[in-house]
Amino acid sequence: MKKIYLDYAATTPCDPEVLAAMEPYFFEKFGNASSLYALGQEAKAAVENVRSALASFLGASPDEIVFTSGGSESDNQAIKGVADALEKKGNHIITTAIEHHAISEPCKFLEKYGFKVTVVGVDQYGRVAPEDIKKAITDKTILISVMHANNEIGTIQPIAKIGSIAREKGIYFHTDAVQTVGHIPVNVNELNVDLLSLSAHKFYGPKGVGALYIRKGTRVDTFLHGGDQEKGRRASTHNTPGIVGLGKAIELCAKNMAEESKVQIVLRDKLIKEIPAAISEVRLNGHSSERLPNNVNFSIKYIEGESMLLNLDMLGIACSTGSACTSSSLEPSHVLLAIGLPAEIAHGSLRITIGRWTTQEEIGYLLDNLPKVVAKLRAMSPLYEKK
Ligand SMILES: *Cc1c(COP(=O)(O)O)cnc(C)c1O
Repeated sequence: MKKIYLDYAATTPCDPEVLAAMEPYFFEKFGNASSLYALGQEAKAAVENVRSALASFLGASPDEIVFTSGGSESDNQAIKGVADALEKKGNHIITTAIEHHAISEPCKFLEKYGFKVTVVGVDQYGRVAPEDIKKAITDKTILISVMHANNEIGTIQPIAKIGSIAREKGIYFHTDAVQTVGHIPVNVNELNVDLLSLSAHKFYGPKGVGALYIRKGTRVDTFLHGGDQEKGRRASTHNTPGIVGLGKAIELCAKNMAEESKVQIVLRDKLIKEIPAAISEVRLNGHSSERLPNNVNFSIKYIEGESMLLNLDMLGIACSTGSACTSSSLEPSHVLLAIGLPAEIAHGSLRITIGRWTTQEEIGYLLDNLPKVVAKLRAMSPLYEKK
């Protein structure tokens, strides 16, 4: 059976060049980057090379990069670290209704300790209005966190504008750039951010490694206490193979990103045009132009997302849905609810995310099969019969 992976926003396969770069650091170069003898110093040099390369990719300087275990840790570190460092200055945090749980859950956690969180809404395309952020600011606001692009609907936020508002008011600004780094240009100065999260497995690197950019002078308390790795900002023996993999993945993205995104936009736009032509009563979620090059998200009426997913899986196609009927929460995606979809429409959503190895043929196979799956499920749907 064909195996067609169309869920690159969930994770990406490791590029073979990334794996090849990592391999020596499991074997002959396995040293602890904190050890003083040559084997350790060799590992340290590798880590520092990646730190410099990543910094220059982001427009940052090397000492502004802290390596972490991935996007979730970077997000937690940013939110809780700033809250901890600035609790005497204020207790108010501003975020949005469409953030990843790695942002919204740390915010909820802080509410238990007396922090107040304002959750700013979005428009029907998933865009945050910078004006709304501005209105939410109080004299107690210490941090604003708005994601660069949304992982479900692909909407890209006006980060630079929000950043300049934050800077004017002297408030720290964090962005979760896990979906954008390696996919579209990300420069910490152009975006006016003080903190930025990224994760290697979303751009063809290994899982379990990422970084947090922390602008010089930004006060962030340590979250993982222990040894003095990362200049005391994050304890734990360096994940040298992982960091080397992240570095190789960034190098490949720097080289190929512009070309790759052009190819992806063609495939994306083909889906955006042809799915509504082949299936009745579908709605595109997200923004028409301020959108990730690799993201397509549709709500398909009278369909339950998870049954659609399982039927596509039987055909060898892997994609994603905002419905969660079989998981512990029955709630549909908070992102789809935030853009104003009624729950029953949100339950029928399908996210297709393409990547480095997606082909025309794969998109063709999906376009051949999706209408059949939808027709089959609608034939069994009492809601569809009644209409
Ligand atoms: C995947 C993702 C995360 C979590 O990153 P991990 O490295 O898997 O912990 C956070 N935010 C966004 C927007 C993501 O897409």
